[in-house]
Amino acid sequence: AMKPAQEADSARIAIVGGGLAGSLLALALARQGHGVDLYERRPDPRRQSAGAGRSINLGLSKRGMQGLRMVGLLDDVLARSVVMSGRVIHAPDGNTRYQAYGKDAGEVLHSIDRNELNHLLLDRAQQHPQVRLHFEHRLVHADKAARQLEFDTPDGNVVVQPLWVAGADGAFSAMRRELQHGERADYHQEYLEWGYKELTLAARPDGSSVIELTALHVWPRSHCLFVSHPNLDGSHTLTLFLPFEGEESFATVRTPDQVSALFAKYFPDLLPLLPGLLDQWERHPTGSLITTRTAPWRFGDWAVLLGDACHAVYPFYGQGMNSAFEDCCVLMAALADHPKDLAAAFTRYEQQRRPHTDVLAELSKANFVELRQKVQSPWFIARKRLDLALNRLWPRSWLPLYTMIAHSTMPYGEALERSHRQERLLRTALAGIAALCCAGLAYAIGVKP
Ligand code: FAD
Repeated sequence: AMKPAQEADSARIAIVGGGLAGSLLALALARQGHGVDLYERRPDPRRQSAGAGRSINLGLSKRGMQGLRMVGLLDDVLARSVVMSGRVIHAPDGNTRYQAYGKDAGEVLHSIDRNELNHLLLDRAQQHPQVRLHFEHRLVHADKAARQLEFDTPDGNVVVQPLWVAGADGAFSAMRRELQHGERADYHQEYLEWGYKELTLAARPDGSSVIELTALHVWPRSHCLFVSHPNLDGSHTLTLFLPFEGEESFATVRTPDQVSALFAKYFPDLLPLLPGLLDQWERHPTGSLITTRTAPWRFGDWAVLLGDACHAVYPFYGQGMNSAFEDCCVLMAALADHPKDLAAAFTRYEQQRRPHTDVLAELSKANFVELRQKVQSPWFIARKRLDLALNRLWPRSWLPLYTMIAHSTMPYGEALERSHRQERLLRTALAGIAALCCAGLAYAIGVKP
């Protein structure tokens, strides 16, 4: 049975997707006095019994923090997160090396449990009198001409007619599909040949961590890669990245012996720390990773997309959630700049944002190579040190690319351009120094020009 559109909806904003971006945007809009209906496909995740979901954590950095500050939640989130002040690189022989993220105390990342963050955002949204939450509402169709959304719910389909819609329904966005249906739209998606599996590295019985707590840990191998984020209880969430197919891959590493052999070969130091490895391997699913680029992100004065719905990126720069929260900030600013013209606000938002998230997609791909291989190379380490040294000498004018991406809110494209400029300057300077050395040497040994 299909219920008719509710009259009152037409004065309210609909948000499709109650994940990270959707719930943050709901709060931001409500705080501006808008009525918001948040529609989420899943049942209320806060009803799940404690411990039911696996802990999956994310690295929160400057851009995401700015979004949380906008809705007054930053302090609550930081209180629930673990500071990561640098990376610990684990070599195959078990040796470790620490690389600080930056020279300032503020240049750190914060590891936060994704579910906990989502619950907090939903709680606060629910407490706001302007927000209504609708769980088990899956968007199935949008009628752009009639300005209606249709949801599949346990009680049958429901049609609503909101003032306008924000699509924050993730990488496989139904709102994107509906918004672009019949339009001159571009959509590009690309899967990584590697998948991932999450494992938990438990804390000791006394709650202390078995590896350095306040850092991101990386076990870089050219053939596979582990990254870990700390949790408040002293445990760590390990994410193994491994090809889907090939000689050593998710396809061939299946039996307990094969799993043990993979760990013995590449991560012998982790084996004794993971007594429940085989059980976890069996129970935890293998995830895939997708990059998407698309345009347009908007339809007239009625619909707009944000977060993974319009730019899913590989997780290797740790910017997916951060950029989704930054979208919320840019969208709110565009709405404030064009209070009476939604179409202009949406256009402005897309123009300000899309070129930069396209850059982020490329940076996230490039960082896959960096995490796997380069963090081990002496040349790369020397280059990182030089970058940090130059940053210390000229803190305002010399900024490493990672610093600009993770610890600033400079638009991604500008950060990349600036890093290219610095690179050129450095090359010229090094070439100049080399030329001077040659000239000096020639003079010293008495070569006449
Ligand atoms: P989502 O969080 O995916 O939320 C979308 C919501 O929409 C979901 O709740 C879904 O149920 C709902 N939905 C879907 N379809 C419908 C429908 N038809 N109707 C109604 N609702 C619907 N980011 C970082 O910033 N730092 C990190 O360290 C980091 N690490 C990551 C590690 C991994 C392994 C992965 C996979 C991602 C990582 N990310 C990280 C990225 C981050 O998880 C995403 O970018 C972020 O969750 C995007 O938020 P979103 O709200 O756009 O989408």
